[in-house]
Amino acid sequence: MTNKLIVALPDVEAFLQRARGSFIDGGFREQGNPIAIINPADGSQLSTVAQGDVALADEAVAITKGSFDDRRWRGMSPAQRERILLKFADLVEQHSEELAQIETLNQGKSINISRAVDAGFSVDFIRYMAGWTTKLEGKTGDVSIGMPEGANFNAYTLRQPVGVVAAIVPWNFPMMIALWKAIPALAAGCSVVVKPASETPLSVLRLAELAVEAGVPKGVFNVILGSGSVVGQHLAGHADVDKVTFTGSTEVGKVIGHAAVDHMASFSLELGGKNPMLVLADADIEKAVNGALMGGLLNQGQVCAAASRFYVHRSLHDEFCSRLRSVVDQMSVGPGMDPQAQVNPVVSQRHQRSILQHLERAKAQGANVHYGVQVPEEGFYVSPVIISDAKQTFDIVREEAFGPILTVIPFDDVNEALAMVNDSELGLAASLWTESLSEAMRLTPEIEAGTVWVNTHVTLDPSLPFGGFKQSGIGKEFGQEAIYSYTKLKSICIAY
Ligand code: NDP
Repeated sequence: MTNKLIVALPDVEAFLQRARGSFIDGGFREQGNPIAIINPADGSQLSTVAQGDVALADEAVAITKGSFDDRRWRGMSPAQRERILLKFADLVEQHSEELAQIETLNQGKSINISRAVDAGFSVDFIRYMAGWTTKLEGKTGDVSIGMPEGANFNAYTLRQPVGVVAAIVPWNFPMMIALWKAIPALAAGCSVVVKPASETPLSVLRLAELAVEAGVPKGVFNVILGSGSVVGQHLAGHADVDKVTFTGSTEVGKVIGHAAVDHMASFSLELGGKNPMLVLADADIEKAVNGALMGGLLNQGQVCAAASRFYVHRSLHDEFCSRLRSVVDQMSVGPGMDPQAQVNPVVSQRHQRSILQHLERAKAQGANVHYGVQVPEEGFYVSPVIISDAKQTFDIVREEAFGPILTVIPFDDVNEALAMVNDSELGLAASLWTESLSEAMRLTPEIEAGTVWVNTHVTLDPSLPFGGFKQSGIGKEFGQEAIYSYTKLKSICIAY
């Protein structure tokens, strides 16, 4: 256990006192049932926020819709909106240490990840999406309409903002995933209401304040707090919500999709993954082991794209596992606020219990479970785990545990390994490790996943569409696909 904690900035302490509830029409709402926000490093109370309810959700949607209807945001020129979003990116950058600390204190992850990913990647992401504001365009159509005789036609398409967007986001990257949804929506001219996960609402509330400071008009970017099964579900089924965008479990994603279809709102779902890493006999083992540690243990494995099942050629299997074991045995443990600590708490006691139950079940099914470094009893820690010589039939190979569990399955024949890679209901991401260009070119199209990396894992870029196949979801984040998903396409046909 290391113990060199960084001291929280005075701005962070002040914000923990100030953030009292939902952020609607440019200010915090304090009415509602107060709930404690917990620091997963020691179980202490970090802050208190008022939970919203159905009535407040209705008000949040009405405010969001009002801001869309009166055109205070979508009516600005694209260049004006781009400038404001770029200013927002600058503010997120200026406040990145404050935001990173809020994220680490609330979510538990290493401050290094909060700085580089949650804050750092978010700044790049906002800037990338801000650029799209001025680049939304339609097409002209060379139509062949023959009646009435002698008539001429001109046709074109117009991309218009979809309207009121409800973004329901999870607890693993609360700020970053909220931005993955809110920023393309704002770039397209939509107005947004975000519902963060109940356990991790703080960073999103601070973002909403910064958006107003950047010049996003009040009422355009709102945050409603409240339980998923009440407030989240109400938003998904709300008649005035035009698009629902969700990241979280497949089970809840289906409920949300049904609720959205009932009122013909469009929706996108970024759901779970049980992501494979396929290591061929010719792979560079050092790179593959490092990739497994990075791809599997980032944020304690609480990453939708995390690698969790590793198909390793039998000739490399034992060395691969022994290298993994020697690293996880030596990792340093501590709160996310300690930059030296490599094993940090998971988000909540609820989630800690869920991961440990997955492990108990794995052991009962005969899995060869190796626990890494010992973790303290105080706080919601889970030791990193290596399971070697696993079988495809184990639940731990088939179900998403969302924790630091690396399960390794040996194979002899690459086509059999490919069949095991694809033998999953989920298909979010996968990686292939080989030095053979021919094998990479042959196998990547055959792997059933929305993203396939070669000799890397969990590397994302704002320009590269990200989203799952099969039960891992519908729709894409990032790139042109993301921005288009917050627009509706109109065809205009003019006779002259
Ligand atoms: P959920 O899918 O339950 O929660 C994600 C978000 O949805 C939260 O904001 C939650 O609110 C909200 N929500 C919950 N129920 C509803 C509902 N009926 N209608 C609308 N919104 C709802 O994830 P869990 O926190 O329960 O995690 C369970 C598992 O899901 C994890 O172990 C992991 O496997 C997977 N997961 C995947 C993520 C990903 O990045 N793809 C992220 C998080 C989880 P509230 O917090 O108030 O319940």
